[in-house]
Amino acid sequence: MMKKLKKAELKRYEKMLIEEREKILKELQYEGDQIAKTQLETSGDLSAYSNHMADQGTETERREITSQILSSRRQALFEIDLALGKVSKGTYGICERCGKPIAKRRLKFLPQARVCMKCS
Ligand SMILES: [Zn+2]
Repeated sequence: MMKKLKKAELKRYEKMLIEEREKILKELQYEGDQIAKTQLETSGDLSAYSNHMADQGTETERREITSQILSSRRQALFEIDLALGKVSKGTYGICERCGKPIAKRRLKFLPQARVCMKCS
């Protein structure tokens, strides 16, 4: 039997999604600023050129990690937007694969979950 989420519950998840969305947007903004800063420093500071050369290995590594973080953040943002769309369409909390309701335990942990525990 399909057990739909109550309106109050839905509101709560919606709030979680919106808060999470804002948090991610702030993080993306911050990381973007950091990248811009690093690029400015690297191009503007010629006296430290040799130091930069020595650090380039770690710098490249750091950038790689940052870009991985950024892409996972963007992915999360995309899923949050999808989930918010479902909230307004009234299909939130339903597994995309089997059509059964997603366990509340799972939604509390991952409000943007698109599939249930079994299907994930
Ligand atoms: Zn499922």
